[in-house]
Amino acid sequence: MKYKLLEIPIYGERVEFKDGEISVPNNPIIPFIEGDGIGPDIWKATKSVIDAAVKKAYSGEKRIEWFQIHAGLSALKKYGNDDILPEDTLEAIKEYKVAIKGPLTTPVGKFDYVCLQCAKEQDGIDGERPEKCIKCGSEFVTPRFRSLNVGLRQILDLYACVRPVRWYKGVPSPVKAPEKLNVIVFRENTEDVYAGIEFQEGSDDAIKLINFLKSDLNKNIRKDSGVGIKPISITCTKRLVRKAINYAIENNKPNVTLVHKGNIMKFTEGAFRDWGYELAKSEYRDKIVTEQELWDDYNSKMPEGKILIKDRIADQIFQQVLLRPDEYSVLATPNLNGDYLSDACAAQVGGLGLAPGANIGDELALFEATHGTAPKYTGMDKVNPSSLILSGVMMLRYLNWDEAAEMIENSLEKTISEKTVTYDLERQMQGAVKLKTSEFCSKIVENM
Ligand code: NAP
Repeated sequence: MKYKLLEIPIYGERVEFKDGEISVPNNPIIPFIEGDGIGPDIWKATKSVIDAAVKKAYSGEKRIEWFQIHAGLSALKKYGNDDILPEDTLEAIKEYKVAIKGPLTTPVGKFDYVCLQCAKEQDGIDGERPEKCIKCGSEFVTPRFRSLNVGLRQILDLYACVRPVRWYKGVPSPVKAPEKLNVIVFRENTEDVYAGIEFQEGSDDAIKLINFLKSDLNKNIRKDSGVGIKPISITCTKRLVRKAINYAIENNKPNVTLVHKGNIMKFTEGAFRDWGYELAKSEYRDKIVTEQELWDDYNSKMPEGKILIKDRIADQIFQQVLLRPDEYSVLATPNLNGDYLSDACAAQVGGLGLAPGANIGDELALFEATHGTAPKYTGMDKVNPSSLILSGVMMLRYLNWDEAAEMIENSLEKTISEKTVTYDLERQMQGAVKLKTSEFCSKIVENM
């Protein structure tokens, strides 16, 4: 048996890739992780909406066969020990290619601070972070997972974090014209300061590194510093920018903006910009025009049918998405910039409760709610499921089931604009009716 503790659905077939193109059967098996805290509430609601839309859009000809897999606290319960991310889960995502998940709790303290080799056998400690692996005593101590989500992205090489941000009619927003923002952020997911290479102030490794930088490279760092490494590679930059440009081509988007802080970090963020332009010119020459070329060769008049490739410095893009939001459509960013920028954009159109997301690699894709587990609302059937529902919409589009995706999106917008909403939106709207999570979803299904 391939899986230790999972039950594969009896019916259903695998999503496959042929020559780089996705091939989706009428009854794909899709693994899902319910998630912790509010996860079960929003998952149940999301599943009911997706199933209803698929049934309605394809008159029962298509159907998703859901396959439950586990991570976080539910994995701990099922698999015991410290297995918050079981092999079964990773194998299922690899085998079935497309999966969806609710938010996850990464347990802290008890399950951290063993080296990777010992992580599997670890049964936990409490208290301060130790200097050495508590199992084998090796000096290089790496928490097994800083975060389950980061772990999933790195192990499965889901290198693009994709976050579409648009406004839905009726959603309260802090800006005057929220409808002008309609962007999709492609954030690099595997490197930059998220590579997890950092050394604690005063540790042997930090001192070793500081001494090396002084002796071999003549660079001064204060002795009492923590030190982190920020790698940005040609490989990861180009595959991310390629995904962003492909998206723009496939979805008729007018421009792709490379976001960076290259004026200060020339060989990491500046290089991200340069390699991005290099890729655009070498692989998409007949489809793109750079901003420089637009000024030099086209008298600032955009030629028909081309995609504009431009770049903006990170601090400037935060102003631009507020002041001139309609000039941007696809944003390609290194890891940290993308983290900040996607949340800032989401806030402009109504906050994280409505922001969907996906982590996508070459063949694997994991769709997810972007908020956390909101533990205080666990089991209350209270919170807004829209982030996970809209992640489901992204997933349906990824499967090329656009009719069902469209149906959910329109119906969600109608439900919100009729002011029948969950508590988080109700408290910001005049005259709205407050619904439970399950009631909100029934309304969406009713409105399809
Ligand atoms: P959080 O769970 O996102 O909750 C913070 C607040 O955001 C909630 O108290 C609530 O605000 C609002 N909120 C979140 N989701 C909502 C929803 N669906 N509907 C309505 N309101 C919602 O953030 P956190 O408290 O910082 O993190 C809690 C846990 O989640 C931590 O263990 C963290 O590690 C984990 N986490 C997981 C993920 C993930 O798996 N992707 C992401 C982030 C955090 P009000 O109470 O003001 O209404």
